[in-house]
Amino acid sequence: MELEGRKVLIVGLARTGVAAARFLALRKARVICTDLKAPEELEDAVGLLEETGSQLRLGEHREEDFLEADLIVLSPGVPLTIRPLQQAQAAGVEIIGEVELAFRHIRRPVIGVTGTNGKTTTVNLIDSMLEQGGVPHWVGGNIGRPMTEFLLGPDAEAHERKPEVVVVELSSFQLETIRHFRPWIALWTNLSPDHLDRYPDMEAYAQAKARIFLNQTGRDFAVVPDRDPWLEAHRDLIRARLVRFGSSAETAPQLCLQEGSIVYKNPEVGEEEVYETRRVRIPGRHNLENMMSAIAVARICGAEPRGIQKAMDSFTGLEHRVEYVGEVGGIRFYNDSKATTVASVVRALECFEDPVLLLAGGKDKGGPLDPLREPLRRYVRRLFVYGAAAGRMARELQGATEIETADDLDGAVAQAFRAGRAGEVILLSPACSSFDMFRDYEERGQRFKALAREIMERNEPKR
Ligand code: ADP
Repeated sequence: MELEGRKVLIVGLARTGVAAARFLALRKARVICTDLKAPEELEDAVGLLEETGSQLRLGEHREEDFLEADLIVLSPGVPLTIRPLQQAQAAGVEIIGEVELAFRHIRRPVIGVTGTNGKTTTVNLIDSMLEQGGVPHWVGGNIGRPMTEFLLGPDAEAHERKPEVVVVELSSFQLETIRHFRPWIALWTNLSPDHLDRYPDMEAYAQAKARIFLNQTGRDFAVVPDRDPWLEAHRDLIRARLVRFGSSAETAPQLCLQEGSIVYKNPEVGEEEVYETRRVRIPGRHNLENMMSAIAVARICGAEPRGIQKAMDSFTGLEHRVEYVGEVGGIRFYNDSKATTVASVVRALECFEDPVLLLAGGKDKGGPLDPLREPLRRYVRRLFVYGAAAGRMARELQGATEIETADDLDGAVAQAFRAGRAGEVILLSPACSSFDMFRDYEERGQRFKALAREIMERNEPKR
């Protein structure tokens, strides 16, 4: 795609917009950058953008910038529905996302990972399996490292040890604005209600995600779970070769769990490979699913099975995902601040045999809470709700378990510890986003861990 001299408008100037601007400037495009935020709110970005020689239009969107552009590049935070974009679209201006822009210039097979839950964990597993299995690669996308950064850094074309594949995590928002993006391997971790505050309904959210399969052909691969009702009902969307993962050899003959092992039938050679799960250190069945799908990707990319096994044995999990914090008086604390969906809370609860004191709440994402009822009854001795969603949660989950309302996360932690008994688990797994009280899930998780540590220090038996 020729960029030299073309007038390109970048909308949204967080890290993704900045990376796109730097790349476009490198290719000698005439770049205008716009964001509704004022310059003071975009300090870091402004410095970097000025270095690229881009024109800045901050604190406003100007209609003529949109209408006169040859190409508009969107950051994932910007909805396609804003007025100037609609006008540009009507006027025939090409509008793409940053993922599409990067894809058009990356000369490597791309692996795309999407799904409601488990994307980051799975991408990290793939990273480690490729690393230990001897496949040079680059990892980015929705994990805070925009795809265009691949085209900027020392990892790019000129790099000596050329990455053979590019692995990217993709959100539904990023997939909305692809056109020709065609991953060699598309991995769909799972689907459950999410982002219903941004999408009109579940179907629209699923359709956005399923765009990952849009341009694939019979030469590509789709790695998908075996019992996904939505995918089953939309089988015609997938033209790539299918690798299904699941718990039984009947429904997932190519990749399934069997007596403490993961059995994988390599689609290239048809041979069966067995991976041990006994030494796996991350909890829960969901993480075995993440491992299964990562194995398929790593093997298709040619990683050595022994390296893959090493990666499985040494992976200790990521911060804020059912993360063990510590223990005092027989009460264990776990931080699962990244669980912003009901499905991920259910998977977290399934990790525990001991009674759980669950802390949940924050900003409501609008999904149904019903699927929580049965797991609450089964695993949770008491639920502590807090934040903007507390009222709805207490109302709709009434009767499933005992429920206490707290003012905020601090209050919920204190109340849970007062109620806790030796042998129990205090788990933060909020089922909501954090934006009512925190900058992001990381700040929320850090706060929870600090509170837990304070309690542990205060209650540590004196030696
Ligand atoms: P994502 O990047 O899709 O948000 P993460 O790996 O960051 O996924 O995990 C988000 C939350 O989902 C965490 O609470 C984690 O424990 C949970 N989770 C991880 N893998 C799965 C899975 N396969 N199914 C359901 N929940 C999962």
